Amino acid sequence: MINITKSYLPPLEEYVKYLEGIWERVYLTNNGPLVRQLEKDLKNYLGIENLLYCSNGTIVLQMAIKALGLTKEIITTPFSYCASSNVILWESCTPVFADILPDDFTIDPAKIERLITEDTEAILATHVYGNMCRVEEIEAIAQKHKLKVIYDGAHTFGTVYNGQSALSYGDISTCSFHATKVFHTVEGGLVTCKDPVVAEKLSQYRSFGHRFDEYFDFGINGKNSEIHAAMGLCNLPRVPDLIAARKYRFGLYDTQLDLSKLERPNLRPGVDYNYAYYPVVFETEEKLLAVKAELETLDIFPRRYFYPSLNKLPFLKNYQPCPVSEDIALRVLCLPMYPDLEIEIIDTICKVVNQHVN
Ligand SMILES: *Cc1c(COP(=O)(O)O)cnc(C)c1O
Repeated sequence: MINITKSYLPPLEEYVKYLEGIWERVYLTNNGPLVRQLEKDLKNYLGIENLLYCSNGTIVLQMAIKALGLTKEIITTPFSYCASSNVILWESCTPVFADILPDDFTIDPAKIERLITEDTEAILATHVYGNMCRVEEIEAIAQKHKLKVIYDGAHTFGTVYNGQSALSYGDISTCSFHATKVFHTVEGGLVTCKDPVVAEKLSQYRSFGHRFDEYFDFGINGKNSEIHAAMGLCNLPRVPDLIAARKYRFGLYDTQLDLSKLERPNLRPGVDYNYAYYPVVFETEEKLLAVKAELETLDIFPRRYFYPSLNKLPFLKNYQPCPVSEDIALRVLCLPMYPDLEIEIIDTICKVVNQHVN
């Protein structure tokens, strides 16, 4: 079975070496030596000073909302995974959806500005498919209206924008190290920030909001374990090779697909890309469904991602129309993309897609 993504696993012996160390130390969690080592290596790799390794890419968004003291309206994107708007609801804030740009499916700065009210406190934007949001325009709007900015960078590990890690933008950036992502620790997440005061708050929130007998606020458990950190230590040095293998497969799709009949999001200038996903947008949802059904008969499972447009989630109280996002969500399909995806499978996928679009 071929899925949209396949987790990379390091050589087992290498992982077992780390496990042996854990067995010797009998130190399993609570900011252990492997967690601290991984954080140190991530700081080096990303060039970011304030960062914390956490349990997943959802809890870090919750911690971000908490650490910035947000309680009211947060302007966010409808074109993302449900985690990025669920966290707003979970933290008892109000999601306000700003539609996306047809060019690259990231949040449209002009639409953000129109939605600002006196209750707006922050912008929570997603770097879609590993590509960057319009960070300069978002920054300017945030400064003008005194808003905080959080980036959900779950897709952007390894992406560099204008010489800086994609995860270094905004007041806070987050990343997911889930098994399906470009870099993973089975489950895991990262939060980065600029302000050391915020960094200290995040650190306390990660560990129940207290340090020994001193309680500062009600926190949560956002910690991750030695067992997970060990997977990260095995995988991190391989990220450049993994991205190169993705890039090669990306190029094969680019040359073999009939792109005159398919839309593709444009990569922002200045982006050194991580090749996280290969989305294609069909002319109609019917074409998408036909291609998906035929690939499934061949045991190939592409994924409708992102789908649905988050403003349409059934548990939201009021419907906020976002026509661009709703339209793209109906027509976009992510084709399988991972470092050891077989070349013949790419050939097969391209043939099936091309037959349906022509
Ligand atoms: C994967 C993902 C998340 C959630 O990350 P987890 O580590 O699975 O909690 C959040 N936002 C986006 C955009 C994602 O792709």
